[in-house]
Amino acid sequence: MIIVDRKYISLLSNRLERFTRKSDRLFNCRCPLCGDSKHNKIKTRGYLYERKGTTLYYCHNCGASMSFNKFLKTVDPLLYKEYTQETFLAKHDSNHNVDKQPDITKFSRPQFLKDSPLKELKKISQIDWRHPAKAYVDKRMLPPASHHKLFYAPKFKTWVNSFIPEKFKFDKDEPRLIIPFLDEEKNCFGFQGRAFLDVGPRYITIMLDDTKPKVFGLDAVDMTKRFYITEGPIDSLFLPNVIAMAGADLNISWIDKDYRKNAVFVYDNEPRNKDIIRRMEKVIELGYNICIWPASMIQKDINDMVLAGHSAADVHRLIDKHACEGLEAKLALMMWRKI
Ligand SMILES: [Zn+2]
Repeated sequence: MIIVDRKYISLLSNRLERFTRKSDRLFNCRCPLCGDSKHNKIKTRGYLYERKGTTLYYCHNCGASMSFNKFLKTVDPLLYKEYTQETFLAKHDSNHNVDKQPDITKFSRPQFLKDSPLKELKKISQIDWRHPAKAYVDKRMLPPASHHKLFYAPKFKTWVNSFIPEKFKFDKDEPRLIIPFLDEEKNCFGFQGRAFLDVGPRYITIMLDDTKPKVFGLDAVDMTKRFYITEGPIDSLFLPNVIAMAGADLNISWIDKDYRKNAVFVYDNEPRNKDIIRRMEKVIELGYNICIWPASMIQKDINDMVLAGHSAADVHRLIDKHACEGLEAKLALMMWRKI
């Protein structure tokens, strides 16, 4: 943690309720952004901590996640002004060679992996073929070309706690397959951890930036063309130009209005699942294209279809063939549903 940050944390500390210093690099307080618990005055779920030389703020109550910079600006704008002057001077002093001045006409591009927790993990494409994680991915027949998008966390909870302090309290840790959510600039803003065994929660979703949608594939999708929206990230790996919803909530307000006509929703083939039927009805109501699986298809999702011997290309063709909207979609849904 740079000394200037520590100084300003201490200057700020009398404005933070129940502020405590846990270590040189970890500070705890009531979250001034959400007010923490309204009922319990002693809850302290805000943390200032160091991550690779920078100071970050995280609240376990409201999920606020930001740089110390932004936190200070929000909580104490006046102190923030002093801070920016002091950090500017500090940089200036250590860098008085004019040639070394940063080029401020260029924005610094965010750098994928470099600042993200993912860089501590191995990609599935990088691990040995005999490794159980690789065996799992092979057994599910996930396309080899997608293995570089997936990561392996041998100790999932320990790994998460290393950048979100005290996220998990646990006795036993477990390995998980990590499915990262990347934005258009390849910044990781969240991820899903998929259990290898079907005990306990199969998926754990963690958002690093709550302002972003819980969506996988934003880094590669081109919404100016036909694109697909699947229910889960794993199924999306079999389709081109695709995103996947990582939560059940159908919040699609972030899709640009001009591109909504290009979307094709692909729900699981579960004609007895009330929940899915309700979501499909809503999508049709909103005027989107949707795939209504033909009765001949018996597998419940794309991964199962591939495991049953359909090629990914065949499934893709089938989706296009059975994509419809409006009245046609309503009728097809009526024929397809079994409840
Ligand atoms: Zn909060």
